Amino acid sequence: TDTRTSDIIQTTEQLGAANYRPLPIVITKAKGVWVEDPEGHRYMDMLSAYSALNQGHRHPKIIAALKRQAERVTLTSRAFHNDQLGMFYEKLAAYTGKSMILPMNTGAEAVETAIKAARRWAYRAKGVADDQAELIVCENNFHGRTVTITSFSTVEEYRDDFGPFTPGFRVIPFGDLPALEQAITPNTAAFLVEPMQGEAGVLLPTPGYLRAAAELCKRHNVLLIADEIQTGFGRTGLRFACDHEQVVPDVYVLGKALGGGVIPVSAVAADREVLGLFEPGSHGSTFGGNPLGCAVAIAALDVIQQERLAERSHKLGAYFMSLLKKLRSPLIQEIRGSGLFIGIELSVPARAYCEKLMSAGLLCKETHERVIRLTPPLTITRPQLTWAYERIRGVLDAG
Ligand code: PLP
Repeated sequence: TDTRTSDIIQTTEQLGAANYRPLPIVITKAKGVWVEDPEGHRYMDMLSAYSALNQGHRHPKIIAALKRQAERVTLTSRAFHNDQLGMFYEKLAAYTGKSMILPMNTGAEAVETAIKAARRWAYRAKGVADDQAELIVCENNFHGRTVTITSFSTVEEYRDDFGPFTPGFRVIPFGDLPALEQAITPNTAAFLVEPMQGEAGVLLPTPGYLRAAAELCKRHNVLLIADEIQTGFGRTGLRFACDHEQVVPDVYVLGKALGGGVIPVSAVAADREVLGLFEPGSHGSTFGGNPLGCAVAIAALDVIQQERLAERSHKLGAYFMSLLKKLRSPLIQEIRGSGLFIGIELSVPARAYCEKLMSAGLLCKETHERVIRLTPPLTITRPQLTWAYERIRGVLDAG
């Protein structure tokens, strides 16, 4: 393309609702960890589309699956069967260890599905009275942007002037076990939690928290719903963030990298006692379970397993962290993370530093004002991480 960056940005901003504030870069091409702008400058992608690109941009096996399926059939709707959906179920059920899957498209839709499943379970299995079911969620959670999900957000800018909101949610501090126990009532259907909080600024709970939370849920007959949309599929160094504490939640909510950075594919994975409560007509999605998405997701899961991306994330995350710990900038308050799920918390707003990193050839994005999130594709190599570290040092250690 010969259209220049500024023209493209101008057109985009003129016509689009301003619900995002992107860095001033246009990406016109991408491969692996690298992206390119219209002028031909190369940048390393250290955001990976909020962990939707764990397999890297345009992974050849995923693109091959996309092309193969695009030549056959792309969409049937769920009015008819297609030959990819069952294979996708088999693959994801084996990966998660769960016996049932419900496919959707975006993360928020999968979260909404899990909420509906938990409410169904409360009424039909637990015996909660009509319309009394409650879910417990955590402060600073991020589960998506629908009205219901926004209803239990604690971030003011996500909620401002979007009411009235959906009732039935109780908010407790993240990492607080006594608060969880106190919030549980006979009407509690589920505890919905990100095992590690992403958008809140890469926040890891103290060791033992998730384990104990899972035990509390079990003791009180409350479902544990793990939103692994951002932390799943190897991002934190293991298959799921729950695996760090050998926790098996009742319900996994999955998305992002499940679609290989190519097609939106999300899903809820749980056992029959929960997902078996949906009958025809109770829930659905025109594109959910479409054969193109399923073929891509099967390939996306194959790549995660064949290339041992969780193990890579664990090893390379430790290496990258050992480099980052050498940074001496007085701006840095804390560096934390798990695998290649890393946040650098600054004492000042991070935006200006993300812009400087961009000029140095490294793309990342601030989250929660003062945190630089570093979440490269899990296919990244050691030399590439060293290269990234040199750029970060140049920007941060120079003040
Ligand atoms: N849940 C978590 C933990 C997320 O990080 C996100 C997206 O950032 C979502 C849900 C929402 O996913 P989507 O943007 O695909 O609706």
